[in-house]
Amino acid sequence: MLQAPRGTEDILPNEQVYWQKIEKEFERIVSSLGFGKIATPFFEYKSVFERGVGAVTDVVEKQMFIVKRAGTFDELDTVEEELILRPEATAGIARSYVEHGMQTWPQPVKLYYFGPMFRYERPQKGRLRQHYQFGLEILGTNNPFTDAFLIGLVKTIYQEIGLSNFIFEINSIGCPNCRAKMKRAITNYYKPFKDLICSSCQNRLSKNPLRLLDCKQEKCQPFIANAPALIDYLCPSCKEHFKNTLEYLEDLNIPYDFNPRLVRGLDYYTKTIFEVVPQDKSAALGGGGRYDNLIELFGGSPTGAIGFAGGVERTILEMKKQGIRLEPTPKPDMILIHLGDSAKKKSLSLLFQLQKEGFKVSLSLEKESLKSQLNAANKLKIPLALILGQKETKEKTIIVRNMLDGAQETIPLKKLTNFLKAKLEVQS
Ligand code: AMP
Repeated sequence: MLQAPRGTEDILPNEQVYWQKIEKEFERIVSSLGFGKIATPFFEYKSVFERGVGAVTDVVEKQMFIVKRAGTFDELDTVEEELILRPEATAGIARSYVEHGMQTWPQPVKLYYFGPMFRYERPQKGRLRQHYQFGLEILGTNNPFTDAFLIGLVKTIYQEIGLSNFIFEINSIGCPNCRAKMKRAITNYYKPFKDLICSSCQNRLSKNPLRLLDCKQEKCQPFIANAPALIDYLCPSCKEHFKNTLEYLEDLNIPYDFNPRLVRGLDYYTKTIFEVVPQDKSAALGGGGRYDNLIELFGGSPTGAIGFAGGVERTILEMKKQGIRLEPTPKPDMILIHLGDSAKKKSLSLLFQLQKEGFKVSLSLEKESLKSQLNAANKLKIPLALILGQKETKEKTIIVRNMLDGAQETIPLKKLTNFLKAKLEVQS
């Protein structure tokens, strides 16, 4: 039997309510605050991620899905570099910002997206090879006020989705000058323990020392707990930015945990970084931070920016964990039952008319008896049945049956809309 590829999921109708809740609440909130939607391609040239995300990050080094092309159409294809399924959206959006001259738009440019990301990871609960993210980017501002605005907005989004019991972990990894000092401090600290840490960490020690702080291996945890706090290496201006951000968060009453060892998996981050973590501190629901140097990496002028991405599947797992139960697709107000050929023909146009008028109508598409259709309506707790037989079709009437008490009335089709409206109003 054919199966969906490892690490991917089919999202079936009963699950869609959770997806729609997240996407709709997210869109409603961010569009009311002036964010515009952006959709960038699902695949980009490899250098977008090598340059943007960083060549020696896990995402680029180990987790890329490379798009193999069937052949070439013309000489342009022969010079095209490798294409990669996007592991995240920020690098592509930064590329788009420069490509479309968004620097000439009124700043800051506020963007949002919703879509799939692809990472070749070992699949496990909450870790997929195709997962969805909802995300925000604010480009063209260096002000710490923006950091607080974004974090406050993320809090609102999770709350409106229905989640409580989550906290922001926050840290600052400073500017490149601070980071050089941080890397040196971490490298010096870890050197004596080189043989005691896991092999990935040994590799990180020479290539990407800050990532040592993000190791999940049991044996590396004691070293992380005692590692130097990154904040001690911030330059005065980065320190001021972080202090101001935290003060704004306190004014906003946003609960946060300052985590001096928080780092993020991608290289483009600068200054403020944060994650949204459930109270039990299981896997992060989302994360983000500043990326003040990314636009320059793509050939733009210096542009302060900050973004956030939330994982949809992880958010749904957490919604269920917190007891949020959503009803699958709304149940119909009525079932339309047809008996005989002429009624069957009439029933389709009546169905579309009722649907246009805003009613939720179900119609049997198979040949079924009156009894079995009424039974089905009962089972689904549909409040009204509309019964169209030969006689009613001829007389341009219809029988409306109240499924609660079995009472029936024959109504002229002309008066049906108003009759149904009144009936449903009484019942709701
Ligand atoms: P990141 O920027 O890598 O922290 O990703 C942002 C969010 O996307 C994470 O906090 C997760 O909620 C989600 N996420 C990242 N990778 C995966 C994955 N492989 N499977 C499911 N969700 C993921």
